[in-house]
Amino acid sequence: SFHKSKGQHILKNPALVDSIVQKSGVKTTDVILEIGPGTGNLTKKLLEAGKKVIAVEIDPRMVLELQRRFQDTPHSNRLTVIQGDVLKTELPYFDICVANIPYQISSPLTFKLLNHQPPFRAAIIMFQREFAMRLVAQPGDKLYCRLTVNTQLHARIFHLLKVGRNNFRPPPKVDSSVVRIEPRKPRIEVKQKEWDGFLRICFNRKNKTLGSIFRQKNVIALLEKNYRTVQALKLSQEDSPNEIDAKMDFSNFGDDQGMEMDHDDEEDEMEVEDGEADGVQSEFKDKVLSVLKEGDFEEKRSSKLSLQEFLYLLSLFNKAGIHFS
Ligand code: SAM
Repeated sequence: SFHKSKGQHILKNPALVDSIVQKSGVKTTDVILEIGPGTGNLTKKLLEAGKKVIAVEIDPRMVLELQRRFQDTPHSNRLTVIQGDVLKTELPYFDICVANIPYQISSPLTFKLLNHQPPFRAAIIMFQREFAMRLVAQPGDKLYCRLTVNTQLHARIFHLLKVGRNNFRPPPKVDSSVVRIEPRKPRIEVKQKEWDGFLRICFNRKNKTLGSIFRQKNVIALLEKNYRTVQALKLSQEDSPNEIDAKMDFSNFGDDQGMEMDHDDEEDEMEVEDGEADGVQSEFKDKVLSVLKEGDFEEKRSSKLSLQEFLYLLSLFNKAGIHFS
């Protein structure tokens, strides 16, 4: 019997398993990380294709079944099974990750992998179709969202394979897709809190113009508060020359790595009143809008902005002393 809560949907189609392994480009020298091996249908082919498989499985019954399946085979000494929750497990070194995962851990697992060091060559992962399409979306696509930009910041992502629900037992409620995630080398370094705060505001209303988003009272108020804090800090540094080199580093503020990626960018965002700060005479608001004008962003919409454009806009804001965390 399978555990629904653990997302246990076993791949039943051997041709599909072959196809996933083949498209993943596993080399005979590879250390492979598998997440959620279940009964081991994918594990078997991975052992045949690579040098070593390290499999992380949460369900002790599955771990037992897996060990029984491979114990007297020539592969047994090349398989390591770690029993535990992959999200709480410190991942070992690996060259490539291949996995048919439980869909409820899609977001946190993706961000765990993208923050893994040293970077691996690629991760080939089965996701729920819609999640996969969000990962590979391009500016202007309907599913282009904060999750897209946040993942594409750290990786290039390709769609490999559509998989119908009937390839699994029991069949899940949704169709699936296999994608290939290639971590960018070198990484694009951003101050994580700053970047996350910035994207949350930009995608709060992804189809509105940035001009109207950055005219909202509460957005202006938040940015002005951050601005004053930074200015005050600068002043106090000028007073004490010894500290003048102490640069602000937002990446160390807290441990939120922006990992709580929702699928639904419209839903859990902070509530923003549509009220504009128009009536109020505000020097600061003019400052914010002049940054948008400088980069010609006023009439643009997040739904159509490329990763490069987001990075550029944030750098313009920061250059003007405007911060998002
Ligand atoms: N790989 C197998 C296959 O393709 O037939 C099984 C895939 S099934 C979709 C997901 C597997 O992940 C199950 O065996 C489940 O017990 C395991 N699992 C669920 N949550 C997990 C977690 N947090 N960490 C590690 N494994 C987990």
